[in-house]
Amino acid sequence: MTAEDLIERMQELRMYVCISLPTDGGYRTESVELEHLIEFVERSHKHIAALYGINEQQYRKFLESKGIVRCTAICQDGRDCGNSVAECWAADEWVQMQGKFCAQHRRRETRRRKRHEQAQTEAVQPETDPPFPSGVLNS
Ligand SMILES: [Zn+2]
Repeated sequence: MTAEDLIERMQELRMYVCISLPTDGGYRTESVELEHLIEFVERSHKHIAALYGINEQQYRKFLESKGIVRCTAICQDGRDCGNSVAECWAADEWVQMQGKFCAQHRRRETRRRKRHEQAQTEAVQPETDPPFPSGVLNS
């Protein structure tokens, strides 16, 4: 029996095929149309990525990482930190977590960002003249 014959027979028997996708809270089930089954299996990364709402390259990187999100901070010696930030079960969650820092760098980055924002606020702060010449209100 060829694959095409099998699919035709499955359609006659009203059989259907589902794929179980890990989500951050368990699993989500998506059905795969029988007429697209061969294409789905042959280009599974592309189709699974689409079900997650991400692109194929992101899905491949997720698989390579085994779901581990790495810290993207640069250490003082110039190396990438690479500490594990989280372990994601779902590919879309893994994509959303990219760019996050480990506990150690989160504190440092927050401080640096605050200093940066403060410096920008001070830079754009217009020179404000007091509403009255000093001494007027207190006299
Ligand atoms: Zn780090």
